[in-house]
Amino acid sequence: MMEKLSAEEFDLNFKAVNDKLNAALLKVGKKREDVILLAATKTVDIDTINYAINKGIKYIGENKVQELLSKQDGIINVHHHFIGHLQTNKVKDVIDKVELIHSVDSLKLAKEISKQAAKKNMVMDILLEINVGAEESKWGFTPENVLNNINEISTLENVKICGLMAIPPMCENPEDNRKYFKIMYQLFTDIKQKNIDNCFMNILSMGMSDDFDIAIEEGANLVRVGTALFGKRYYI
Ligand SMILES: *Cc1c(COP(=O)(O)O)cnc(C)c1O
Repeated sequence: MMEKLSAEEFDLNFKAVNDKLNAALLKVGKKREDVILLAATKTVDIDTINYAINKGIKYIGENKVQELLSKQDGIINVHHHFIGHLQTNKVKDVIDKVELIHSVDSLKLAKEISKQAAKKNMVMDILLEINVGAEESKWGFTPENVLNNINEISTLENVKICGLMAIPPMCENPEDNRKYFKIMYQLFTDIKQKNIDNCFMNILSMGMSDDFDIAIEEGANLVRVGTALFGKRYYI
């Protein structure tokens, strides 16, 4: 059983995350509103999520469709994103439940999202997930691969490419990920400069609990933070 996070623990965690965030922003001369702090809420109970929202969390992200659907009705007003691997057969369940899908990791998935969005007369905002460490175990386009696919994805009528997302390799020292964040920022800038129709490089989603400050230093403007806010126990 998951032990519930106390209000005091969350308050302390949130303060520590905000302090670290503000220090990183100061370093790069950005303002608080320039970077979105998204709370990764997998396995976190609804009461805790609502508490966090009341304390100022404005964006939350789930990484499993089933969990998103089972929790969403109980959650107070907030921006919902989807951040996990999405199977094509679940696209229709999630498409009108979230504002942004971070984890579009194949052309096939982008096509299915566009198809299902068309049925609902909507345009779905997406990020393309980059497997920046080229790890076999991870989903996503390799940096080379995304350049081969982005033109075709941008022609899909019912998706709007809003940026890129990455989960760099696990590492002992968060500094080790700086090089991957640099690669991501370069790719983000390169794609932006291509000025492809229907391809907006506005959001660079990278950085998690251990390294979100480094990600911000390297150009992230959306960080996804779970453990640092809700504690380790939620990973059971
Ligand atoms: C869980 C999760 C996070 C947050 O990870 P922490 O290390 O707990 O901060 C970020 N992104 C994705 C896609 C996740 O699933």
